[in-house]
Amino acid sequence: MLGTVLYGPRDIRCEEVAEPKILHPTDAIIKLSATCICGSDLWPYRGLNEVSQPMHMGHEYCGVVVEVGSAVRTVKPGQFVVGSFCISDNTCPHCRRGFQSSCEQREFMSGAQATLARVPLADGTLVATAETPTEDLIPSLLATSDVLGTGWYAADAARVQPGSTVVVVGDGAVGLMGVLAAKQMGAARIIAMSRHKSRQELALEYGATDIVAARGEEGVAKVRDLTQRIGADSVLECVGTQESMSQALACARPGSMIGYVGVPHGVQFDGQRLFFTQVGLMGGPAPVRRFLPHLMDLVLTRKINPGKVFDLIVPLADVAEGYKAMDERRAIKTLLRV
Ligand SMILES: [Zn+2]
Repeated sequence: MLGTVLYGPRDIRCEEVAEPKILHPTDAIIKLSATCICGSDLWPYRGLNEVSQPMHMGHEYCGVVVEVGSAVRTVKPGQFVVGSFCISDNTCPHCRRGFQSSCEQREFMSGAQATLARVPLADGTLVATAETPTEDLIPSLLATSDVLGTGWYAADAARVQPGSTVVVVGDGAVGLMGVLAAKQMGAARIIAMSRHKSRQELALEYGATDIVAARGEEGVAKVRDLTQRIGADSVLECVGTQESMSQALACARPGSMIGYVGVPHGVQFDGQRLFFTQVGLMGGPAPVRRFLPHLMDLVLTRKINPGKVFDLIVPLADVAEGYKAMDERRAIKTLLRV
């Protein structure tokens, strides 16, 4: 079958790889309906995470179950399923408290930019739909697997409430999903910080009420002007750099929460500054499994259309072009046709 392997910085190849097999009785094998490239895939692609051996890429997935291990009870061959990029048993104490991304048996999905994929802990990780969804819903269902679930978690962690004022730092796919999530949670004002025209337009479509293109001090001043000079009730940090975290801290009012979901690279905190800023920080890998049934329902009943975030669609064989387009910011997010 075809799979995606990263050999080193900017050396990504779609090539013939071995088909996955059931390794544990709790595994399932799925045939991908579609898969995609994550912003976090760009870290190793750009050489910012070390690639010590060939990496089988891909952790966002949906598809049809083709085989299950002997211990799998809740999904069966033929069912359409979506799973989180975090593998979880959904039964351990952390899972029961809604933090499946800190599951005692946590693994991170890999190898999903392929025709077939193995999903460990299938009972805990996968959510099946009642019927096979129509083709046009596949991009949005795929989005629930990570990018929407992560944007949703940013809004949840930042405690977005009906009527609240929200700032979203980062106009990548996750930031745009954060805008969508804040809108669904009833935010009255959603300020998207974005410098790119096409992303600004999508942010507005997803519910942003204001766009701030400026960054740094100027950006903070604009946010203050829009928030009665006190800052936002909730800030979603969706990038993971020092610059974006500093921006988030400066836009948050005392007593607010920052939900941060960009994987931090080189981010440092000044203890005293944090102390006197008086904001709460909640982040980490999103417990997408907690949100999946709700998000899938919103998609299946056509209340949301997160799939619009895919502005480039290429066949799996052209995965290298998909990475390149995202790396060069020509594409927000690439969907891979399988
Ligand atoms: Zn668990």
